[in-house]
Amino acid sequence: MRSRAASTVLSGLAAELPELDELYVDLHRHPELSFQETRTAAVLADRLRADGYQVHTGIGGTGVVGVLRNGAGPVALLRADIDALPVQERTGLDYASTVRATDAEGRDVPVMHACGHDMHATWLSGAASRLAAARQAWSGTVLVVFQPGEESGGGARAMVADGLFERAGVPDVVLGQHVAPAPAGWVLTRPGVLMAATDAIRITLHGRGGHGSRPETTVDPVVLAASVVLRLQTIVSRELAATESAVVTVGSLHAGTTHNVIADEATLEVNVRTFDSQVRSRVLAAIDRIVRAEAQAADAPRPPDIVELATFPVTANDEAATSRLTDAFRAYFPDGRVQEAPQVTGSEDFGEFGSAAGVPSVFWLVGGADERTVLDALAAGRFERDIPSNHSSLFAPVRHPTLRTGVETLVVGALSWLPARGVG
Ligand code: ZN
Ligand code: ZN
Repeated sequence: MRSRAASTVLSGLAAELPELDELYVDLHRHPELSFQETRTAAVLADRLRADGYQVHTGIGGTGVVGVLRNGAGPVALLRADIDALPVQERTGLDYASTVRATDAEGRDVPVMHACGHDMHATWLSGAASRLAAARQAWSGTVLVVFQPGEESGGGARAMVADGLFERAGVPDVVLGQHVAPAPAGWVLTRPGVLMAATDAIRITLHGRGGHGSRPETTVDPVVLAASVVLRLQTIVSRELAATESAVVTVGSLHAGTTHNVIADEATLEVNVRTFDSQVRSRVLAAIDRIVRAEAQAADAPRPPDIVELATFPVTANDEAATSRLTDAFRAYFPDGRVQEAPQVTGSEDFGEFGSAAGVPSVFWLVGGADERTVLDALAAGRFERDIPSNHSSLFAPVRHPTLRTGVETLVVGALSWLPARGVG
């Protein structure tokens, strides 16, 4: 059965949907790159203030936290990320982004909410409004966290390092959600590991350049790099068991300027995905070992430089908290809409909040794709080809019922920790 508190808190949602729809379209039209989310942060902070939250801004760069203390009880942290990606939008929507911006490397790039963080921000803003408007129905404290810099990595850690918990208080539970290419209106939960850990590594291989006609005077970094790329592929195929999994992708490889010059160095960028910390350590150690050994085998003049560019932890859902939350979702949503989520090779820095606070956290997925289209694509075996995924220039969640569902899940989620109180 639906909880009375959830019904009370969500009773005003239908009337608020047009305003949330406007907020979503506005955020979609004005995407901002990681750690540049000043306009987005200001819009969201203003809404929190209007709802009566105590608001802290500029946490970890452009992060915003709203605190609503509403009597005795647990503290529930609700988190949404707010940054966009350097992607040229091709959705053809009438509210498509035409924004360009300067990225952290000084390049002029197109910007798009291709991961749906505009939806996340709108959901959380809507849930914050509902919880404030119906505060007579529950007690405890809500921490609303709008996090910058998820895509670039580091946003969650920056907020924690900048005193998030000292300023806003330590939560008892951390909750968050992501829009996914599942049918709109569906909610997908999973106990344990939901999303992979990511490690991004830059490798600089040092050779000795020279004339293209005289390889004997050089150490050719192109040949060395080619050898490294192939050997790295043996980590997953030869060093992991069939029951273990990882992805090792060399996403970028640069060396040389022209055909008759042997370059001085080659640069590789490697992306690693793992679901298990022990597998992760083994894969990272294998990369280090192979790269150094190949450099030595090539007689490189000095050892390679291996630099970590970004790291995301595994998104691991607390088992007990996930089953509590899933039960609450099943009670609220009609049969069949709450499903088990598959493991996702994408990564998130959401897990940083729960780890830093030492409390359980749960992350779940909310469908954002047209239900009929998804079911037809699945039936035809064309899901991967036909349904644009997050980060695609065609990624365009349907607004309804996606908007409503994500507000409902956050409110129902928060209220499964915040005790109901009778209307006195
Ligand atoms: Zn993303
Ligand atoms: Zn995302």
